[in-house]
Amino acid sequence: MTNPAQTSFGIHWFRRDLRVAGNNALLHNWQKNKGRVVGVFCFDSQFLRRADFSHNRFAFFLNTLQSLQSELRAIGSDLLIVDERPDPAFRKISDYFKHHKKWNLSQVTYNRDYEPFARNRDRAIEDLLSKLNVPCDSFRDHLMIEPLELDKGKMGEYYQIYSPFAKKWFELFHSPTMQARIEEQKRGLRYLFEKKHKENLFCLSWSDLTNAQFPYQDALKQFQTENGKKVTVEIPEAGSIAVRHHLETFKSKLENYKEARDIPSQAGTSKFSLFLKNGSLTTTQIMAYYNLQKLTFKDEQGPGRFLKELVWREFYYHILYHYPLVETEAFIKKYKKIRWQNNEILFKQWCEGKTGFPIVDAGMRELNTTGWMHNRVRMIVSSFLTKDLLIDWRWGEKYFMEKLLDGDLAPNNGGWQWAASTGCDPQPYFRIFNPWLQAKKFDPEGEYIRQFVEELKDVDTKTIHDEEADRTAYGYPKPIVQHKMQKEKALKMYDVE
Ligand SMILES: Cc1cc2nc3c(=O)[nH]c(=O)nc-3n(C[C@H](O)[C@H](O)[C@H](O)COP(=O)(O)OP(=O)(O)OC[C@H]3O[C@@H](n4cnc5c(N)ncnc54)[C@H](O)[C@@H]3O)c2cc1C
Repeated sequence: MTNPAQTSFGIHWFRRDLRVAGNNALLHNWQKNKGRVVGVFCFDSQFLRRADFSHNRFAFFLNTLQSLQSELRAIGSDLLIVDERPDPAFRKISDYFKHHKKWNLSQVTYNRDYEPFARNRDRAIEDLLSKLNVPCDSFRDHLMIEPLELDKGKMGEYYQIYSPFAKKWFELFHSPTMQARIEEQKRGLRYLFEKKHKENLFCLSWSDLTNAQFPYQDALKQFQTENGKKVTVEIPEAGSIAVRHHLETFKSKLENYKEARDIPSQAGTSKFSLFLKNGSLTTTQIMAYYNLQKLTFKDEQGPGRFLKELVWREFYYHILYHYPLVETEAFIKKYKKIRWQNNEILFKQWCEGKTGFPIVDAGMRELNTTGWMHNRVRMIVSSFLTKDLLIDWRWGEKYFMEKLLDGDLAPNNGGWQWAASTGCDPQPYFRIFNPWLQAKKFDPEGEYIRQFVEELKDVDTKTIHDEEADRTAYGYPKPIVQHKMQKEKALKMYDVE
């Protein structure tokens, strides 16, 4: 029973929804607790010890948290960053408020996450909070349409191929419920684009709630200092102002997206993946901002093409949710038997961008020096690793996670399994990218290659693209394999039953 002398308040547990604008769970908590809501973020030491952990991506994440904390403080709320896993943290926080009776913790909210690790964690926290008698509510936020909102397909199984998935997705997308989600997000966007936010939108901070006996102090600065020492690339601007800027900047590029998206030397894509990863932006917000709600599966112009890329993202989340084994195994069972050659020297040359294939090396050097790689080049280098170097896609997947600022399990795993032809909706194994032809087609003037491969900066385009040319005189390595020969080997390697 709540003591009438107590004042109730809510906690919003931030995870990968690092924003205020249109944050579904936060909004619900705010309404229910009349603005008396504070945020908490718990670092999980297990996460920080992951083999594919990236200090660079973590720096972007910390900067996003910092921006969110400042924004929440400016509107009358607060965010506490705790150096503790969520289970002990919620136990201690709940215990504290059981003893400090002035405040009644009336609700914890969070937005759902779909990765296997997160789903287990969230179930455990729900159980814990229920035992502690703290009501806990979760919400849809990260995806436009959640995996369980799509029925099984005609074969009685969850969708495994993009096109039928996308057709079903569009059908649902046009339903009144989903269109209402877009309208809701338009309200969130109005908040995002306000010049000055109301200072008293919320009315509670952690210092109002706690005294010296409270077990936690904000750990953000400590993390930033420790992690900052290990950052190796320039970290892009993070937080809501950067999100706004990206949304505005990409507006003029949307019409031409279909043509520009495949040319790595042009800044023709949105770079939204950086923000989507940590939820400082969501796919629904993007759809609302560009008014994509009436587009159909058949729309092939810039906006239609762009929307379908967002649907690819939703598709990979759907796959990871329903088929969580993809995290560690080939989706197509027979390809678990592939005998990868896994030559460590070739792998190192690939990682360092020293393969002697200019487009591959440009991509890997872009990744190593900026934490980013263009989608077309991601496709080329992943195909090259698996089908020219005959190396297990999981090696590449892990390397990408170590380096990418937008590294995200579902699309990264999906992209790798697609390229390796081991995944759902793969490119057939016999369709093998020819890196020389890909380079000529998508970087015809060699601009992208010259930007990242220093040795070829002053070399003419013909020499850059010529498979037979000797480029060693420029200090650039000879190709470490011969594409035609490797293709034959790959075809044999994939011939498993
Ligand atoms: C081997 C490989 C690994 C990848 N790893 C990741 C990863 O770790 N994180 C990640 O976010 N994306 C990954 N992708 C997908 C894609 O490369 C990036 O999402 C895209 O390059 C991000 O750039 P953008 O935001 O400018 O994309 P845009 O072209 O502007 O597209 C807008 C959004 O659509 C989604 N999208 C676009 N292309 C794809 C795609 N092929 N698959 C799924 N979603 C897509 C992304 O969320 C993207 O932000 C990978 C692709 C491959 C082939």
